[in-house]
Amino acid sequence: MNTAWISAGSNVGDRWAQLGRAIAALEACGRVIAVSSCYETEPVGYGDQPWFLNLAAGLETRLTPHQLLSFCQSIELAQGRVRPFPNAPRTLDLDILLYGDLILDLPDLVLPHPRLADRRFVLEPLAEIAPLLRHPVLNRSVRQLLELCPDRATVRKVETAG
Ligand code: ADP
Ligand code: MG
Repeated sequence: MNTAWISAGSNVGDRWAQLGRAIAALEACGRVIAVSSCYETEPVGYGDQPWFLNLAAGLETRLTPHQLLSFCQSIELAQGRVRPFPNAPRTLDLDILLYGDLILDLPDLVLPHPRLADRRFVLEPLAEIAPLLRHPVLNRSVRQLLELCPDRATVRKVETAG
């Protein structure tokens, strides 16, 4: 059994429902051990688009990293994801942030996620559920990475559904 940490984001359609469905779908490939609050976040990289809703989740799974990536992509597709251009608005984005202590650098899968430490919208939800989790390459905890993160884009916790 391995523990993977996943980032989910949506900025098209019913963002809240899509994140909920994504977590429910992940239950089919393991046990969801933690889900963060939802955070409303300012788009990074391509600014002229709606704000995102983001969360992080922990998953115990027997899937290999590539099986998990395929599974996440099938959930994205099932929820209507299209990829017209990089950083385009999306109904659902599921990224694998960490998979145990695994370090991998392949064309289709990089672990830990290469932009994990640069993105406040990823670190803030992850720090809520796993502040002491260590990044195996940077050798710092998620809480430390958040403190060091230079990204100043707005990330605010959403207290209730709506
Ligand atoms: P992004 O998440 O960067 O906005 P996409 O969701 O379209 O963009 O993903 C682009 C590609 O990133 C995917 O086809 C996938 O093969 C690759 N990728 C590499 N590492 C990871 C990872 N850790 N988690 C998810 N996708 C990854
Ligand atoms: Mg992605």
